[in-house]
Amino acid sequence: MNKIIIANFKMNKTSTETKDYLVRLLSRFDNAGDDRLMLCLPYTSLAIGKFMLEGSKIELCAQNMSEEDEGRCTGEISGRMLKDAGVEYVIIGHSERRKKFKEDSRIINKKIKSALKNGLGVILCVGESLADRNTLKTLDVLKEQIEDALKGLYENELEKIIIAYEPVWAISSGKTPTSKEVEKAFKGIRKIIAADFSAKAGEEIAIVYGGSIDVKNARQFADVKGGNGLLVGGASLDAATLMQIVAVV
Ligand code: PEP
Repeated sequence: MNKIIIANFKMNKTSTETKDYLVRLLSRFDNAGDDRLMLCLPYTSLAIGKFMLEGSKIELCAQNMSEEDEGRCTGEISGRMLKDAGVEYVIIGHSERRKKFKEDSRIINKKIKSALKNGLGVILCVGESLADRNTLKTLDVLKEQIEDALKGLYENELEKIIIAYEPVWAISSGKTPTSKEVEKAFKGIRKIIAADFSAKAGEEIAIVYGGSIDVKNARQFADVKGGNGLLVGGASLDAATLMQIVAVV
């Protein structure tokens, strides 16, 4: 499989700033390359993103969605709305949302089902806290998060799921696990999927690593056995840096 690079802007950039960014990115991006580049923009940048990415193979993605399709949910954005805005994939279960917005496994499962129903792919974020890591609970946490999130899904729906392994303590901290630790987590994730769906599903599920990726460590983590790419937060906010990461993986 070719590499997948997912950029998560988080709550950064106005639509004007996104436009300037995309001008720079598109001037450097090789549309004929084999790797996938997915940009998870803030909601307010989706319209300019759709306009500017027309004709490019860069995928327009979002960072969150409501578990409901429509109705009395003031301030929320549904999967149906994202689909209409041209979005292809949406991040669900990011640790910042699990923590700050108290998103639990029931809501994450509902969001995933709603995304798939509306024709969106899902970037499912999972990962252990520092306390879990220090007490050797990483694989137990991954099992619980993945099984809760994917409960009730059909095997063929996994084609539209990318699992992002993001140790919570590594996100935007400048700290990273070792390649061996990431390899072990990837192997564990494939085992969970194989046990819950099939051996084939375990082999084929797309998995990326996320957490303090920069130009210097991108290649190391993109090369970890069993992985398919990277999720990049902070370092993706500069178009030239993101393109350097794409170039080294
Ligand atoms: C993220 O946003 O999920 C992330 C991994 O951020 P950062 O690359 O800044 O650690």
